[in-house]
Amino acid sequence: MAQTHLPAAYGFLASAHTSGGRMPAAVFATLGRQTLLAERLRAQTVDAVLVHPGSDADGAYTTDGDSLLLFAGEIYNREEIHGTLGTEESASDAVLVTGLIEKYGLHAFRMINGRYAALAVSGTRVLAATDHAGSVPLYVRVEPGRVLAATEVKALAGAGPAGRCAPVLGARRVRGLPGLHQVPAGAVVDIGVDTGSAAVHRTWLPPVHRCLTEPDDAVNAVRAALDKAVVRRLPAAGRPLVVLSGGIDSSAVAALTAGASATRTDTLSMGTDVSNEFPQARVVAEHLGSDHREMTVESGELLALLPHTVHAAESLDPEVIEYLLPLTAMYRCIGGPPRRVLTGYGADIPLGGMHREDRLPNLDAAVALDMDSFDGLNEMSPVLSAVSGHWSTHPYWDREVLELLTSLESGLKRRFGRDKWVLRASVSDLLPTETVTRPKLGVHEGSGTTASFSLLVRRAGAGEEDIASVKAQVVRHLFDRTVVGGEQPDDIDIEDVIDKIVGGGGT
Ligand code: ATP
Ligand code: MG
Ligand code: MG
Ligand code: MG
Repeated sequence: MAQTHLPAAYGFLASAHTSGGRMPAAVFATLGRQTLLAERLRAQTVDAVLVHPGSDADGAYTTDGDSLLLFAGEIYNREEIHGTLGTEESASDAVLVTGLIEKYGLHAFRMINGRYAALAVSGTRVLAATDHAGSVPLYVRVEPGRVLAATEVKALAGAGPAGRCAPVLGARRVRGLPGLHQVPAGAVVDIGVDTGSAAVHRTWLPPVHRCLTEPDDAVNAVRAALDKAVVRRLPAAGRPLVVLSGGIDSSAVAALTAGASATRTDTLSMGTDVSNEFPQARVVAEHLGSDHREMTVESGELLALLPHTVHAAESLDPEVIEYLLPLTAMYRCIGGPPRRVLTGYGADIPLGGMHREDRLPNLDAAVALDMDSFDGLNEMSPVLSAVSGHWSTHPYWDREVLELLTSLESGLKRRFGRDKWVLRASVSDLLPTETVTRPKLGVHEGSGTTASFSLLVRRAGAGEEDIASVKAQVVRHLFDRTVVGGEQPDDIDIEDVIDKIVGGGGT
Protein backbone atom coordinates (compact mmCIF):
# COMPACT_ATOMS: atom_id res chain seq x y z
CA MET A 1 0.00 0.00 0.00
CA ALA A 2 1.23 3.49 -0.80
CA GLN A 3 1.85 6.11 1.85
CA THR A 4 -0.19 9.17 2.51
CA HIS A 5 1.26 12.20 0.80
CA LEU A 6 3.58 13.05 3.70
CA PRO A 7 4.15 11.98 7.32
CA ALA A 8 1.98 13.70 9.92
CA ALA A 9 5.13 15.08 11.60
CA TYR A 10 8.81 15.37 10.70
CA GLY A 11 10.14 15.93 14.22
CA PHE A 12 9.42 16.90 17.79
CA LEU A 13 10.75 18.38 20.99
CA ALA A 14 9.21 17.25 24.27
CA SER A 15 9.55 17.67 27.99
CA ALA A 16 7.95 15.10 30.30
CA HIS A 17 8.11 16.11 33.93
CA THR A 18 6.78 15.21 37.34
CA SER A 19 8.02 18.50 38.76
CA GLY A 20 8.38 21.85 37.00
CA GLY A 21 10.98 22.90 34.47
CA ARG A 22 10.96 25.11 31.45
CA MET A 23 11.09 23.60 28.00
CA PRO A 24 13.93 24.88 25.80
CA ALA A 25 12.99 26.95 22.75
CA ALA A 26 11.86 24.88 19.76
CA VAL A 27 14.95 25.30 17.57
CA PHE A 28 14.75 23.08 14.50
CA ALA A 29 16.54 23.09 11.18
CA THR A 30 13.44 21.27 9.90
CA LEU A 31 11.04 23.57 8.11
CA GLY A 32 7.37 23.18 8.93
CA ARG A 33 4.46 24.37 10.94
CA GLN A 34 4.69 23.88 14.68
CA THR A 35 1.97 22.57 16.95
CA LEU A 36 2.24 22.99 20.71
CA LEU A 37 0.88 20.40 23.12
CA ALA A 38 0.55 20.77 26.88
CA GLU A 39 -0.95 17.67 28.44
CA ARG A 40 -1.50 17.11 32.13
CA LEU A 41 -1.46 13.35 32.52
CA ARG A 42 -2.19 11.61 35.84
CA ALA A 43 1.44 11.20 36.90
CA GLN A 44 3.27 13.82 34.84
CA THR A 45 2.95 16.76 32.51
CA VAL A 46 4.13 16.77 28.91
CA ASP A 47 4.96 19.89 26.93
CA ALA A 48 5.78 19.28 23.30
CA VAL A 49 6.27 20.90 19.95
CA LEU A 50 5.62 18.89 16.79
CA VAL A 51 7.05 20.15 13.51
CA HIS A 52 4.95 19.05 10.57
CA PRO A 53 4.35 19.67 6.85
CA GLY A 54 0.55 19.81 6.87
CA SER A 55 -1.95 22.18 8.42
CA ASP A 56 -2.23 20.08 11.58
CA ALA A 57 -0.27 17.33 13.36
CA ASP A 58 -3.28 15.20 14.29
CA GLY A 59 -1.88 11.92 12.99
CA ALA A 60 1.40 12.41 14.88
CA TYR A 61 0.14 11.99 18.44
CA THR A 62 -2.42 10.28 20.62
CA THR A 63 -3.36 11.11 24.17
CA ASP A 64 -5.71 9.94 26.88
CA GLY A 65 -5.74 10.77 30.58
CA ASP A 66 -2.72 8.66 31.50
CA SER A 67 -0.57 8.40 28.41
CA LEU A 68 0.66 10.28 25.37
CA LEU A 69 2.50 9.24 22.24
CA LEU A 70 4.48 11.43 19.86
CA PHE A 71 5.44 10.03 16.48
CA ALA A 72 7.66 11.64 13.81
CA GLY A 73 8.04 9.82 10.51
CA GLU A 74 6.14 6.89 9.05
CA ILE A 75 5.49 3.15 9.18
CA TYR A 76 5.93 0.85 6.18
CA ASN A 77 4.34 -2.36 7.52
CA ARG A 78 0.97 -0.83 8.32
CA GLU A 79 -0.91 -3.77 6.82
CA GLU A 80 0.80 -6.29 9.08
CA ILE A 81 0.00 -4.11 12.06
CA HIS A 82 -3.64 -3.84 11.03
CA GLY A 83 -3.56 -7.62 10.85
CA THR A 84 -2.46 -8.03 14.45
CA LEU A 85 -4.45 -5.13 15.95
CA GLY A 86 -7.59 -5.17 13.82
CA THR A 87 -7.34 -1.39 13.41
CA GLU A 88 -9.10 0.63 10.72
CA GLU A 89 -7.15 1.22 7.56
CA SER A 90 -7.49 4.96 8.13
CA ALA A 91 -5.86 4.79 11.59
CA SER A 92 -2.87 7.12 11.89
CA ASP A 93 0.62 5.78 12.48
CA ALA A 94 0.41 7.17 16.03
CA VAL A 95 -2.76 5.15 16.66
CA LEU A 96 -1.03 2.00 15.38
CA VAL A 97 1.98 2.50 17.65
CA THR A 98 -0.29 3.18 20.62
CA GLY A 99 -2.14 -0.07 19.87
CA LEU A 100 1.12 -2.00 19.59
CA ILE A 101 2.32 -0.61 22.93
CA GLU A 102 -0.94 -1.66 24.60
CA LYS A 103 -0.44 -5.17 23.23
CA TYR A 104 3.32 -5.66 23.42
CA GLY A 105 4.63 -3.07 25.88
CA LEU A 106 8.04 -1.68 25.06
CA HIS A 107 8.59 -4.56 22.62
CA ALA A 108 6.10 -2.82 20.31
CA PHE A 109 9.04 -1.21 18.56
CA ARG A 110 10.36 -4.63 17.51
CA MET A 111 7.27 -5.00 15.31
CA ILE A 112 7.64 -1.82 13.29
CA ASN A 113 9.33 -1.45 9.92
CA GLY A 114 9.51 2.29 9.54
CA ARG A 115 11.39 5.55 9.40
CA TYR A 116 10.57 7.21 12.69
CA ALA A 117 11.35 8.47 16.16
CA ALA A 118 8.75 8.02 18.90
CA LEU A 119 8.18 9.08 22.46
CA ALA A 120 5.65 7.24 24.60
CA VAL A 121 4.75 8.69 28.01
CA SER A 122 2.70 6.64 30.42
CA GLY A 123 2.45 6.65 34.21
CA THR A 124 5.85 7.83 35.39
CA ARG A 125 7.58 6.19 32.46
CA VAL A 126 8.92 7.47 29.14
CA LEU A 127 9.92 5.27 26.20
CA ALA A 128 12.14 6.90 23.58
CA ALA A 129 12.45 4.80 20.42
CA THR A 130 14.17 4.89 17.03
CA ASP A 131 13.58 2.76 13.96
CA HIS A 132 15.93 -0.16 13.19
CA ALA A 133 18.40 2.18 11.47
CA GLY A 134 18.03 5.16 13.74
CA SER A 135 17.15 6.91 10.50
CA VAL A 136 15.25 9.65 12.32
CA PRO A 137 17.78 10.65 14.99
CA LEU A 138 16.50 11.00 18.56
CA TYR A 139 18.24 12.56 21.56
CA VAL A 140 17.36 12.48 25.24
CA ARG A 141 18.34 14.27 28.41
CA VAL A 142 17.36 12.53 31.62
CA GLU A 143 17.27 13.99 35.10
CA PRO A 144 15.19 12.89 38.09
CA GLY A 145 11.80 14.55 37.62
CA ARG A 146 12.27 15.56 33.98
CA VAL A 147 13.03 14.00 30.60
CA LEU A 148 13.71 16.03 27.49
CA ALA A 149 13.71 14.50 24.04
CA ALA A 150 14.11 15.89 20.53
CA THR A 151 14.71 14.71 16.97
CA GLU A 152 17.37 17.42 16.55
CA VAL A 153 19.96 17.72 19.28
CA LYS A 154 20.27 21.48 18.74
CA ALA A 155 16.78 21.79 20.24
CA LEU A 156 18.20 20.47 23.54
CA ALA A 157 21.39 22.55 23.50
CA GLY A 158 19.79 25.29 25.60
CA ALA A 159 18.44 22.96 28.27
CA GLY A 160 20.66 24.35 31.01
CA PRO A 161 23.39 22.95 33.25
CA ALA A 162 23.88 19.19 33.20
CA GLY A 163 24.49 18.89 36.93
CA ARG A 164 21.54 16.64 37.71
CA CYS A 165 21.61 14.68 34.47
CA ALA A 166 21.62 10.90 34.69
CA PRO A 167 23.78 8.70 32.45
CA VAL A 168 22.15 6.55 29.78
CA LEU A 169 24.43 3.53 29.63
CA GLY A 170 24.74 2.12 26.13
CA ALA A 171 23.82 5.42 24.44
CA ARG A 172 26.32 7.72 22.75
CA ARG A 173 27.03 11.07 24.34
CA VAL A 174 27.00 14.21 22.22
CA ARG A 175 30.10 16.32 21.65
CA GLY A 176 29.96 19.63 23.51
CA LEU A 177 26.58 18.94 25.10
CA PRO A 178 27.02 17.28 28.50
CA GLY A 179 24.03 15.30 29.73
CA LEU A 180 22.70 14.61 26.23
CA HIS A 181 22.57 11.14 24.66
CA GLN A 182 21.58 9.83 21.27
CA VAL A 183 19.14 6.94 21.33
CA PRO A 184 20.94 4.08 19.54
CA ALA A 185 19.64 2.81 16.19
CA GLY A 186 17.10 0.04 16.69
CA ALA A 187 16.58 0.74 20.38
CA VAL A 188 14.08 1.89 22.92
CA VAL A 189 15.23 3.67 26.06
CA ASP A 190 13.01 2.93 29.02
CA ILE A 191 13.16 5.88 31.41
CA GLY A 192 11.71 6.27 34.90
CA VAL A 193 10.94 9.97 35.05
CA ASP A 194 10.65 10.16 38.85
CA THR A 195 14.01 8.41 39.47
CA GLY A 196 15.94 9.30 36.32
CA SER A 197 16.74 5.64 35.66
CA ALA A 198 17.31 4.68 32.01
CA ALA A 199 17.76 1.28 30.35
CA VAL A 200 18.45 0.66 26.67
CA HIS A 201 16.71 -2.29 24.96
CA ARG A 202 17.62 -3.29 21.44
CA THR A 203 14.77 -3.75 18.97
CA TRP A 204 16.89 -4.63 15.94
CA LEU A 205 20.45 -5.73 15.20
CA PRO A 206 22.15 -6.06 11.82
CA PRO A 207 22.29 -9.75 10.86
CA VAL A 208 25.76 -11.27 11.14
CA HIS A 209 24.89 -14.59 9.50
CA ARG A 210 25.17 -15.04 5.74
CA CYS A 211 22.94 -17.09 3.43
CA LEU A 212 24.28 -19.38 0.70
CA THR A 213 21.27 -18.61 -1.46
CA GLU A 214 21.13 -19.89 -5.06
CA PRO A 215 21.98 -16.91 -7.31
CA ASP A 216 18.62 -17.02 -9.13
CA ASP A 217 16.74 -17.16 -5.85
CA ALA A 218 18.77 -14.29 -4.42
CA VAL A 219 18.11 -12.17 -7.51
CA ASN A 220 14.36 -12.84 -7.29
CA ALA A 221 14.27 -12.16 -3.57
CA VAL A 222 16.09 -8.84 -3.97
CA ARG A 223 13.74 -7.77 -6.77
CA ALA A 224 10.65 -8.66 -4.75
CA ALA A 225 11.85 -7.00 -1.55
CA LEU A 226 13.01 -3.82 -3.25
CA ASP A 227 9.84 -3.56 -5.29
CA LYS A 228 7.74 -3.89 -2.13
CA ALA A 229 9.84 -1.27 -0.35
CA VAL A 230 9.45 1.17 -3.23
CA VAL A 231 5.69 0.61 -3.49
CA ARG A 232 5.32 1.21 0.25
CA ARG A 233 7.06 4.56 -0.17
CA LEU A 234 5.07 5.94 -3.09
CA PRO A 235 2.76 8.87 -2.37
CA ALA A 236 -0.95 7.98 -2.24
CA ALA A 237 -1.63 11.07 -4.32
CA GLY A 238 0.61 13.24 -6.46
CA ARG A 239 3.75 12.34 -8.30
CA PRO A 240 6.72 10.57 -6.80
CA LEU A 241 10.10 12.27 -7.11
CA VAL A 242 13.26 10.16 -7.39
CA VAL A 243 16.67 11.76 -6.99
CA LEU A 244 18.59 10.09 -9.79
CA SER A 245 22.31 9.94 -10.49
CA GLY A 246 22.23 7.30 -13.20
CA GLY A 247 24.06 4.90 -10.87
CA ILE A 248 22.52 1.48 -10.37
CA ASP A 249 21.07 2.24 -6.92
CA SER A 250 18.93 5.23 -7.81
CA SER A 251 18.22 3.92 -11.32
CA ALA A 252 16.72 0.74 -9.84
CA VAL A 253 14.53 2.82 -7.51
CA ALA A 254 13.47 5.06 -10.38
CA ALA A 255 12.61 2.05 -12.57
CA LEU A 256 10.52 0.37 -9.88
CA THR A 257 8.84 3.68 -9.08
CA ALA A 258 7.95 4.31 -12.71
CA GLY A 259 6.64 0.75 -12.97
CA ALA A 260 4.43 0.95 -9.89
CA SER A 261 3.29 4.56 -9.83
CA ALA A 262 -0.17 5.42 -11.11
CA THR A 263 1.15 8.81 -12.23
CA ARG A 264 4.21 9.90 -14.11
CA THR A 265 7.47 9.94 -12.21
CA ASP A 266 9.63 13.02 -11.69
CA THR A 267 13.39 12.56 -11.59
CA LEU A 268 16.00 15.07 -10.58
CA SER A 269 19.78 15.14 -11.02
CA MET A 270 22.28 17.55 -9.59
CA GLY A 271 25.75 18.39 -10.78
CA THR A 272 28.29 21.14 -10.36
CA ASP A 273 30.34 23.27 -12.72
CA VAL A 274 33.21 20.90 -11.92
CA SER A 275 31.55 17.56 -12.56
CA ASN A 276 28.23 15.85 -13.13
CA GLU A 277 26.60 12.55 -14.09
CA PHE A 278 23.98 14.20 -16.30
CA PRO A 279 24.49 12.03 -19.42
CA GLN A 280 24.19 8.82 -17.40
CA ALA A 281 21.07 10.01 -15.58
CA ARG A 282 19.50 11.18 -18.85
CA VAL A 283 19.86 7.69 -20.34
CA VAL A 284 17.76 6.34 -17.47
CA ALA A 285 15.20 9.15 -17.53
CA GLU A 286 14.67 8.69 -21.27
CA HIS A 287 14.39 4.94 -20.91
CA LEU A 288 11.78 5.28 -18.17
CA GLY A 289 9.98 8.27 -19.67
CA SER A 290 10.25 10.30 -16.50
CA ASP A 291 9.89 14.07 -16.31
CA HIS A 292 13.50 14.83 -15.75
CA ARG A 293 15.19 17.94 -14.40
CA GLU A 294 18.87 18.82 -14.05
CA MET A 295 20.26 21.41 -11.71
CA THR A 296 23.78 22.75 -11.67
CA VAL A 297 25.30 24.23 -8.55
CA GLU A 298 28.44 26.31 -8.76
CA SER A 299 31.13 24.66 -6.61
CA GLY A 300 31.74 27.78 -4.51
CA GLU A 301 28.04 27.88 -3.67
CA LEU A 302 28.14 24.18 -2.92
CA LEU A 303 31.00 24.54 -0.43
CA ALA A 304 29.27 27.51 1.19
CA LEU A 305 26.60 24.99 2.22
CA LEU A 306 28.96 22.95 4.40
CA PRO A 307 27.64 24.71 7.54
CA HIS A 308 24.06 23.94 6.43
CA THR A 309 24.87 20.27 5.94
CA VAL A 310 26.41 19.91 9.40
CA HIS A 311 23.56 21.93 10.92
CA ALA A 312 20.99 19.61 9.32
CA ALA A 313 22.70 16.24 9.71
CA GLU A 314 24.25 16.95 13.13
CA SER A 315 27.01 14.57 12.07
CA LEU A 316 30.70 14.75 12.95
CA ASP A 317 31.88 12.37 10.24
CA PRO A 318 33.72 14.28 7.49
CA GLU A 319 33.13 11.58 4.86
CA VAL A 320 29.43 11.50 5.55
CA ILE A 321 29.30 15.28 5.32
CA GLU A 322 30.95 15.05 1.90
CA TYR A 323 28.26 12.61 0.72
CA LEU A 324 25.48 14.74 2.14
CA LEU A 325 26.70 18.15 0.95
CA PRO A 326 25.65 17.74 -2.72
CA LEU A 327 22.34 16.26 -1.59
CA THR A 328 21.78 19.24 0.72
CA ALA A 329 22.32 21.58 -2.22
CA MET A 330 19.94 19.55 -4.36
CA TYR A 331 17.12 19.38 -1.80
CA ARG A 332 17.33 23.16 -1.36
CA CYS A 333 16.71 23.62 -5.08
CA ILE A 334 13.59 21.44 -5.34
CA GLY A 335 11.29 24.33 -4.48
CA GLY A 336 7.51 24.28 -4.50
CA PRO A 337 5.26 22.55 -1.99
CA PRO A 338 6.62 19.68 0.16
CA ARG A 339 7.41 16.55 -1.83
CA ARG A 340 7.95 12.89 -1.06
CA VAL A 341 11.43 12.05 -2.35
CA LEU A 342 12.72 8.52 -2.96
CA THR A 343 16.48 8.00 -3.00
CA GLY A 344 18.91 5.20 -3.77
CA TYR A 345 20.89 6.09 -0.69
CA GLY A 346 22.50 3.40 1.44
CA ALA A 347 22.58 0.41 -0.95
CA ASP A 348 26.36 0.39 -0.84
CA ILE A 349 26.50 -0.27 2.90
CA PRO A 350 24.98 -3.80 2.99
CA LEU A 351 26.36 -4.58 -0.49
CA GLY A 352 29.88 -3.24 0.11
CA GLY A 353 29.65 -1.15 -3.08
CA MET A 354 32.12 1.54 -2.13
CA HIS A 355 34.92 -0.83 -1.17
CA ARG A 356 35.86 -1.89 -4.70
CA GLU A 357 37.08 -5.11 -3.09
CA ASP A 358 37.43 -8.36 -5.03
CA ARG A 359 38.47 -10.60 -2.15
CA LEU A 360 35.33 -12.06 -0.60
CA PRO A 361 36.63 -12.37 2.99
CA ASN A 362 37.67 -8.71 2.95
CA LEU A 363 34.40 -7.65 1.36
CA ASP A 364 32.37 -9.39 4.04
CA ALA A 365 34.58 -7.94 6.78
CA ALA A 366 33.99 -4.46 5.34
CA VAL A 367 30.22 -5.00 5.19
CA ALA A 368 30.16 -6.30 8.75
CA LEU A 369 32.17 -3.33 9.96
CA ASP A 370 30.00 -0.79 8.12
CA MET A 371 26.80 -2.39 9.42
CA ASP A 372 28.29 -2.21 12.90
CA SER A 373 29.35 1.42 12.73
CA PHE A 374 26.62 3.38 10.90
CA ASP A 375 24.88 4.34 14.12
CA GLY A 376 25.28 7.98 15.03
CA LEU A 377 26.47 9.09 11.58
CA ASN A 378 22.94 10.38 10.78
CA GLU A 379 23.49 9.62 7.10
CA MET A 380 19.81 8.86 6.56
CA SER A 381 18.51 11.84 8.52
CA PRO A 382 15.31 13.30 7.09
CA VAL A 383 16.43 16.75 8.19
CA LEU A 384 18.66 17.08 5.08
CA SER A 385 15.58 17.46 2.90
CA ALA A 386 13.23 18.70 5.64
CA VAL A 387 15.17 21.97 5.87
CA SER A 388 13.34 22.77 2.62
CA GLY A 389 10.14 21.04 3.69
CA HIS A 390 10.57 17.77 1.76
CA TRP A 391 10.36 14.21 3.08
CA SER A 392 13.05 11.78 1.94
CA THR A 393 12.80 8.01 2.19
CA HIS A 394 15.39 5.34 1.40
CA PRO A 395 14.05 1.97 0.09
CA TYR A 396 17.41 0.18 0.51
CA TRP A 397 17.19 0.83 4.24
CA ASP A 398 13.73 -0.62 4.50
CA ARG A 399 14.10 -3.14 7.32
CA GLU A 400 13.32 -6.13 5.08
CA VAL A 401 15.54 -5.01 2.20
CA LEU A 402 18.41 -4.18 4.51
CA GLU A 403 18.21 -7.52 6.29
CA LEU A 404 18.08 -9.41 3.03
CA LEU A 405 20.97 -7.55 1.40
CA THR A 406 23.16 -7.73 4.48
CA SER A 407 22.63 -11.46 4.92
CA LEU A 408 23.57 -12.53 1.38
CA GLU A 409 26.98 -14.17 1.15
CA SER A 410 29.60 -11.85 -0.30
CA GLY A 411 29.97 -13.87 -3.52
CA LEU A 412 26.49 -12.64 -4.49
CA LYS A 413 27.51 -9.05 -3.86
CA ARG A 414 30.74 -9.26 -5.84
CA ARG A 415 30.39 -11.60 -8.81
CA PHE A 416 31.85 -11.81 -12.30
CA GLY A 417 34.06 -8.85 -11.38
CA ARG A 418 31.08 -6.59 -10.69
CA ASP A 419 30.12 -4.75 -7.53
CA LYS A 420 26.52 -5.09 -6.27
CA TRP A 421 25.99 -7.97 -8.71
CA VAL A 422 22.78 -9.26 -7.14
CA LEU A 423 21.14 -5.85 -7.33
CA ARG A 424 22.21 -5.31 -10.94
CA ALA A 425 20.89 -8.71 -11.94
CA SER A 426 17.61 -8.08 -10.15
CA VAL A 427 16.71 -5.04 -12.28
CA SER A 428 18.49 -5.93 -15.53
CA ASP A 429 15.17 -6.23 -17.37
CA LEU A 430 14.13 -2.70 -16.38
CA LEU A 431 17.15 -0.61 -17.35
CA PRO A 432 19.52 -0.08 -20.29
CA THR A 433 22.56 -2.38 -20.24
CA GLU A 434 24.93 0.55 -19.90
CA THR A 435 23.16 1.50 -16.66
CA VAL A 436 23.11 -2.04 -15.32
CA THR A 437 26.84 -2.45 -15.92
CA ARG A 438 27.92 1.04 -14.88
CA PRO A 439 30.52 0.91 -12.08
CA LYS A 440 29.75 2.57 -8.79
CA LEU A 441 30.51 6.27 -8.52
CA GLY A 442 29.95 7.96 -5.17
CA VAL A 443 27.86 11.12 -5.06
CA HIS A 444 30.85 12.97 -3.60
CA GLU A 445 32.89 11.86 -6.62
CA GLY A 446 30.32 12.39 -9.37
CA SER A 447 29.59 15.92 -8.20
CA GLY A 448 33.25 16.79 -7.65
CA THR A 449 32.48 17.60 -4.01
CA THR A 450 35.51 15.85 -2.51
CA ALA A 451 37.81 17.42 -5.09
CA SER A 452 36.38 20.94 -4.59
CA PHE A 453 36.60 20.71 -0.79
CA SER A 454 40.19 19.44 -1.05
CA LEU A 455 41.07 22.28 -3.40
CA LEU A 456 39.70 24.86 -0.98
CA VAL A 457 41.77 23.37 1.85
CA ARG A 458 44.88 23.25 -0.34
CA ARG A 459 44.38 26.88 -1.39
CA ALA A 460 44.31 27.88 2.27
CA GLY A 461 47.85 26.50 2.46
CA ALA A 462 47.40 22.98 3.81
CA GLY A 463 49.82 20.27 2.73
CA GLU A 464 48.53 17.17 0.95
CA GLU A 465 49.01 15.02 4.04
CA ASP A 466 46.91 17.39 6.17
CA ILE A 467 43.81 17.59 4.00
CA ALA A 468 41.86 14.85 5.74
CA SER A 469 42.64 16.19 9.18
CA VAL A 470 41.72 19.76 8.20
CA LYS A 471 38.39 18.53 6.82
CA ALA A 472 37.68 16.71 10.08
CA GLN A 473 38.49 19.86 12.05
CA VAL A 474 36.25 21.93 9.79
CA VAL A 475 33.34 19.58 10.44
CA ARG A 476 33.92 19.62 14.22
CA HIS A 477 34.17 23.40 14.16
CA LEU A 478 30.90 23.70 12.21
CA PHE A 479 29.20 21.27 14.60
CA ASP A 480 30.35 23.31 17.59
CA ARG A 481 29.05 26.53 16.11
CA THR A 482 25.79 25.51 14.43
CA VAL A 483 24.59 22.58 16.57
CA VAL A 484 26.07 23.30 19.99
CA GLY A 485 26.39 27.08 19.70
CA GLY A 486 23.15 27.80 17.88
CA GLU A 487 24.71 29.93 15.13
CA GLN A 488 22.79 30.19 11.87
CA PRO A 489 24.63 28.41 9.03
CA ASP A 490 24.04 31.41 6.74
CA ASP A 491 26.18 33.52 9.09
CA ILE A 492 29.26 31.31 8.71
CA ASP A 493 31.84 31.94 6.02
CA ILE A 494 33.39 28.60 5.16
CA GLU A 495 36.55 30.09 3.64
CA ASP A 496 37.19 32.02 6.85
CA VAL A 497 36.77 28.85 8.87
CA ILE A 498 39.24 26.93 6.71
CA ASP A 499 41.75 29.80 6.68
CA LYS A 500 41.68 30.00 10.47
CA ILE A 501 42.05 26.24 10.89
CA VAL A 502 44.93 25.97 8.41
CA GLY A 503 46.59 29.20 9.55
CA GLY A 504 46.19 28.60 13.26
CA GLY A 505 47.07 24.90 13.16
CA GLY A 506 43.64 24.02 14.54
CA THR A 507 40.71 25.55 16.39
P1 ATP B 1 26.11 3.93 -7.24
O1 ATP B 1 26.32 3.78 -5.75
O2 ATP B 1 26.26 2.64 -7.95
O3 ATP B 1 26.93 5.03 -7.79
P2 ATP B 1 23.92 5.72 -7.05
O4 ATP B 1 24.65 6.79 -7.75
O5 ATP B 1 22.46 5.63 -7.27
O6 ATP B 1 24.54 4.30 -7.40
P3 ATP B 1 25.27 6.74 -4.67
O7 ATP B 1 26.35 7.22 -5.54
O8 ATP B 1 25.63 5.88 -3.52
O9 ATP B 1 24.17 5.84 -5.47
O10 ATP B 1 24.43 8.00 -4.18
C1 ATP B 1 23.43 7.82 -3.20
C2 ATP B 1 22.10 8.37 -3.67
O11 ATP B 1 22.13 9.80 -3.69
C3 ATP B 1 21.69 7.99 -5.07
O12 ATP B 1 21.13 6.70 -5.13
C4 ATP B 1 20.72 9.08 -5.46
O13 ATP B 1 19.43 8.85 -4.94
C5 ATP B 1 21.35 10.28 -4.78
N1 ATP B 1 22.27 10.93 -5.72
C6 ATP B 1 23.59 10.71 -5.84
N2 ATP B 1 24.14 11.50 -6.78
C7 ATP B 1 23.13 12.23 -7.29
C8 ATP B 1 23.03 13.22 -8.29
N3 ATP B 1 24.09 13.62 -8.96
N4 ATP B 1 21.82 13.74 -8.56
C9 ATP B 1 20.73 13.33 -7.89
N5 ATP B 1 20.76 12.41 -6.91
C10 ATP B 1 21.94 11.86 -6.62
MG1 MG C 1 33.12 5.27 6.07
MG1 MG D 1 24.98 3.94 -4.07
MG1 MG E 1 26.59 7.07 -7.57
